[in-house]
Amino acid sequence: MVEHIGVIGAGQMGNGIAHVCALAGHQVYLMDVNEPALEKALATVAKNLNRQVTKGKISQADAEATVARIHTATTMKVFAECDLVIEAASENEGVKRRILTELCPLLKPSCLLASNTSSISITRLGAATDRPEKFIGMHFMNPVPVMSLVELIRGIATAEETYGVVRELALALGKVPVSAEDFPAFIVNRILLPMINEAVYTLYEGVGSVDAIDTAMRLGANHPMGPLELADFIGLDVCLSVMQVLHEGLADTKYRPCPLLVKYVEAGWLGRKTNKGFYDYSGPKPMPTR
Ligand code: NAD
Repeated sequence: MVEHIGVIGAGQMGNGIAHVCALAGHQVYLMDVNEPALEKALATVAKNLNRQVTKGKISQADAEATVARIHTATTMKVFAECDLVIEAASENEGVKRRILTELCPLLKPSCLLASNTSSISITRLGAATDRPEKFIGMHFMNPVPVMSLVELIRGIATAEETYGVVRELALALGKVPVSAEDFPAFIVNRILLPMINEAVYTLYEGVGSVDAIDTAMRLGANHPMGPLELADFIGLDVCLSVMQVLHEGLADTKYRPCPLLVKYVEAGWLGRKTNKGFYDYSGPKPMPTR
């Protein structure tokens, strides 16, 4: 039974994971090395809970109790009593390996471990722990409180019991778990990012403008967002890094990142987070940059 949950990394994903776990009634220990990130995460959780109150999805009392169940810390010692720790720190294998090595001796032997990595091998990360059978990939989607999918990824050593407990937890959080094998980028990003990359090639080759490509996919394929608009939302650096993982991990030229995507990232045009990507967000309305 999972009662106490640890979350490592209070960034975009960590705050969302803490939010849904605390809302489901768990005591949550949210840890980050960066103190301001913790403050920002708590503010974001409060803001998103308020939005759920305004929409009538939860009560004001639920929102207040949820915030009270989130305990922040800058050290991993707070995880001593946790039944599960979810790692959601920066997407860097060295960082994640160091965290796991330092973390394991602080945990009780029965504690399960999950990583929210988008692209790093679960088998390789599990090998950096003292409990690969208790290690699993738990890949939430962004924004976590809104998106209902969680991909569950078994490493080669992951025990069925671990999978079962984490699957039950995902269901209790109101999510829909889907099982994915431990291959680069799992399922959603394996399919979504090559589509986005192809949209960038379509722009690069002059087949259509930013506006034409996004309008075509919204109205022609019934997608809620055009692929270039979506790329700006995800972050062009993140899009590029997933394509590189696919290209290197599967050694197939069909995953070659589009040179135009590389150029945008080199320019520091990373999408919404830098106010400029395939659209310019500095005015009242997003304007296509091509
Ligand atoms: P982010 O950069 O917003 O947050 C990462 C946080 O980790 C930062 O606050 C940073 O201070 C903290 N951190 C770094 N080193 C640490 C350490 N040693 N100990 C504790 N905290 C540390 O990143 P994010 O977008 O939240 O992504 C986190 C993870 O989730 C990554 O593995 C990413 O691939 C994955 N993911 C991201 C998305 C997305 O859309 N952003 C979606 C699914 C999964």
